[in-house]
Amino acid sequence: MHSTATLAADQAGITRAADLLAGGELVAFPTETVYGLGGDARSDIAVARIYEAKGRPSFNPLIVHLPDLAAVEKIATLGPNARALTQAFWPGPLTLVLPLREGSGISPLVTAGLDTVAIRIPAHPLAQALLRAFGGPVAAPSANPSGRISPTRAAHVLDGLTGRIAAVLDGGPCAVGLESTIVLADPDPVLLRPGGLSREALEATLGQPLTLGGDGVKPTSPGQLASHYAPNATLRLNATRAEANEVLVGFGPVIGPLTLSETGDLIEAAARLFHMLREADRLAGPTGRIAFAPIPETGLGLAINDRLRRAAAPKDSP
Ligand code: AMP
Ligand code: MG
Repeated sequence: MHSTATLAADQAGITRAADLLAGGELVAFPTETVYGLGGDARSDIAVARIYEAKGRPSFNPLIVHLPDLAAVEKIATLGPNARALTQAFWPGPLTLVLPLREGSGISPLVTAGLDTVAIRIPAHPLAQALLRAFGGPVAAPSANPSGRISPTRAAHVLDGLTGRIAAVLDGGPCAVGLESTIVLADPDPVLLRPGGLSREALEATLGQPLTLGGDGVKPTSPGQLASHYAPNATLRLNATRAEANEVLVGFGPVIGPLTLSETGDLIEAAARLFHMLREADRLAGPTGRIAFAPIPETGLGLAINDRLRRAAAPKDSP
C-alpha cells in the first residue's frame, strides 16, 4: 500500500471512493457516530484487508452498512421488535444483530462465521451518498488501529492508518462521536453494546426492558455458542504432515489437499479461513480429523491462530 488519498466531500470524491471500494480497496468514511473503515462486505479479500489494516488480533464480527431497508431485507430477516426499532431509529446510531439470509453473499469473515449479521443504516449524508454510489454492502469497523481511540475526524483516521488504506473521505467532524448502540432485537431484546442511542429511547419504543448482554463479542448464551461456526471434526494445529485419517490444510511450503495460501500470504489465508474450515470438515466426514499447517504469529496470523485455537479447543458442553 502506498499513500492514503484524502477525498473531498463532493461528487468526484464520492465517485472515487465508490470505485476504490468496487476494486476491493479500503476507504474510511464519516458516519454520524465515528469514521468507519469500509470495505466490500462480499469480498473475502477486502474484509481480510480491514482486519490487517486495523491490526486486530481476532476476527470480531464487523458491522455491515447499508443505505436503506430494502437493501437490509436482501441480506437479513427482521422480527417484530427489529421492525419497530428500524421504523423509530433508522437511519441513525443503532446497529441491529439479525439472522443472516441464506445466500446473502456476505463474506463469513464479516460475521466471523456466525449465522447472524450486525447491520446499520447510517444517517450521515456522505455515508448515504457513498453507499448509494457503491451499491453494495460495506463492512466497516471504526477506522482506528486496534486498541486505539475511535476517530471522529479525517485527521484522526490519517494519524492511525495512513499508508494502510487507499483513501479517507473527509466529511469533517462526526456529530455523535460515540459508537452505535448494538441490539439483538428478537425474540427478546438484548443490549449488546451501549452507544449513541440511549437505552431509555429503545425501551420506550419496544414497550419492554432490554436485557444486558456481554460485550457482543463473546457468545453469552448456549444459543449463541451453537451458532458460532466450529467444525465437527477434531483439529490439530502446527501440523507439518497428515497422519492417518487426517485432512491437512496447508500453508506456504506445507502442502495438503487444501491450502490457506500456497504462497504463504496471510491476507489470502485470512480470506479463505472460514471456507477452508467448512471444506475440511466436509472432507473429513463424521470420523475424520483436520490438521492445520503452522501459521506465523505475525500480522493477520494472530487472528487466524486465535480462530484456529478456538476451533481446536475441546467443545463446550451443549
Ligand atoms: P466496531 O465495528 O468496532 O464498531 O465493533 C462492532 C461490534 O459489533 C463488535 O463489538 C461486535 O462484537 C459486534 N457484532 C458484530 N456482529 C455481531 C453479531 N453477529 N453478533 C453479536 N455482536 C456482533
Ligand atoms: Mg472499534
